[in-house]
Amino acid sequence: MIHYSLQCEKEHGFEGWFASSEDFGRQTAAGLVSCPYCESKTVSKTLMAPNVATSRRKEGMQAVAMDTMRHDMIAKLKEAVREIRANADDVGERFPEEARKIHYGEAEARGIIGQASPDEARALTEEGIEIAPLPVFPEDQH
Ligand SMILES: [Zn+2]
Repeated sequence: MIHYSLQCEKEHGFEGWFASSEDFGRQTAAGLVSCPYCESKTVSKTLMAPNVATSRRKEGMQAVAMDTMRHDMIAKLKEAVREIRANADDVGERFPEEARKIHYGEAEARGIIGQASPDEARALTEEGIEIAPLPVFPEDQH
């Protein structure tokens, strides 16, 4: 289905749904499409430009709201990451090995952080081991 904004010769705006643009042509030629206000059968598609402008404006507003939220989320995320780093055992490159040991009960259950390559991370996830990427903020990279 295609949605068209339509207009009659007296500039009454209305909307219609058609199976295709051919279907629209067929229905208007057959006089099946008429203006709901004045019943004129001289209808045409209107330019979509005003709608585009409206949706752009909306997107702009959403972006502003999201930026404010993101700022707050980043602050919370930084706090959470600080807490994770403070409480977790940094096992460095042994991360995949340690994560498996903990998962299979071969090592003490605890929070660990460390490095894993994308392949290792995928393998761990496939084994049902819950891992999450730890974001690195610019100020952490000394
Ligand atoms: Zn009309």
